[in-house]
Amino acid sequence: MKIIQNIKGTQDILPLETKKWQNLEASVRKVCARFGYEEIRTPIIEKTQLFSRGVGEDTDIVTKEMYTWEDKDGTSLTLRPELTASVARSFIQHNLGGKAPIQRLFYMGPLFRRERPQKGRQRQFHQFGVEAFGSDNPEQDAEIIAIAWHILSECGLNNVASLNLNSIGSSECRKKYREALRDYLKPNLEQLSETSQKRFELNPLRILDTKSIQEQNLLKDAPKISNFFNDNDKEHFDSVQELLDTLNIPFIINEKLVRGLDYYSNTVFEFISSNIGSQDALLGGGRYNHLVESLGGKKSSGIGFAAGMERFLLAMNEQNFESNIDIYFINLDHKSISKVFSLTDKLRKNGFSVLTDTLRRSMKSQLREANRSGAKYAIILGDVELSENNITIKNLKNGEQETIQQNDLINKMQSLTN
Ligand code: AMP
Repeated sequence: MKIIQNIKGTQDILPLETKKWQNLEASVRKVCARFGYEEIRTPIIEKTQLFSRGVGEDTDIVTKEMYTWEDKDGTSLTLRPELTASVARSFIQHNLGGKAPIQRLFYMGPLFRRERPQKGRQRQFHQFGVEAFGSDNPEQDAEIIAIAWHILSECGLNNVASLNLNSIGSSECRKKYREALRDYLKPNLEQLSETSQKRFELNPLRILDTKSIQEQNLLKDAPKISNFFNDNDKEHFDSVQELLDTLNIPFIINEKLVRGLDYYSNTVFEFISSNIGSQDALLGGGRYNHLVESLGGKKSSGIGFAAGMERFLLAMNEQNFESNIDIYFINLDHKSISKVFSLTDKLRKNGFSVLTDTLRRSMKSQLREANRSGAKYAIILGDVELSENNITIKNLKNGEQETIQQNDLINKMQSLTN
């Protein structure tokens, strides 16, 4: 019989990999706690209109990539393709804005987009992200970017990730800029791709992040959005940059960075990785001062980011993860099993993670297994040790070993691992 396989663009995360996931999740939780952000969990299915209204009718996500179906009662449902709209919905529905003037939230979980799968791009993937609702000030932008920077540093990725920063101004600024960009592109409209021609009408800013070299050349002398900033836009963007300097977070200004989703305004940013191939955006975010209103809530500013967990793990793949096994307890003679069990139990009750053999294998194969497990120490209880109430501890990193009294085992292990 043909075996059933997982769906294209999805992935089983097997035990060797889950360790890395848990590590990443722990780093995210640690940093979010450091900044006082609390976790929010929203459902994986939502009404389709949340995304068409929240993310934007003309975005790639909404037009091409959503898993949408009609439920038995005729409601159109969608597997969430991103989380900001869901978090904003929840914020409005539970009146979180009325409970505290600033809501600082983080999330982690799976998302679904029907994209063409490739390295770093899947149909079911995972993001972690943060959202802060309530403050319109540049220090809130800097705080959000600082969280991203702390998590990247925690994962050892601050050296491979570069921060691209831009401001797409207020809606009034973008309105003027859209006209200027259309005027600039109009004479060459025929040379634009079909997609860009559509964007020309709907959202010409999106043409700026084109991958086509020909279009990039056409855009060389295009007007710059920064020339259309009002005083507030300019002041806001300058302050964000000053604060990033204070925090020693390096960045480059990328005037072509507009981000794909409709809800952004003012600050937008992306961390790009130098070591994961063409799908190189590790993390992206920005300010969305009109999202809550457009979903029917009271006006509330917001800013956040989302990061691809698979891409983080790809970028981290070069690193060696420490095994969390402290001790491999070698079990040499099944006469000694009850002794081994009582000692491993004591060790575990004292907080050590301990592996032991239950297959009655030879010393050689147990030592091989001990090394493979990544354990820091092997403990050996052979015939001689058993008869003399001793025990041998072998450091698996440098091969040194010593024999001690069984009664001293816990104290000895505590002093070795401290
Ligand atoms: P976005 O929600 O499109 O701004 O994406 C935020 C982050 O999610 C990106 O920077 C990527 O790291 C990640 N991401 C987006 N789409 C995918 C995908 N199809 N597969 C894996 N990661 C993705």
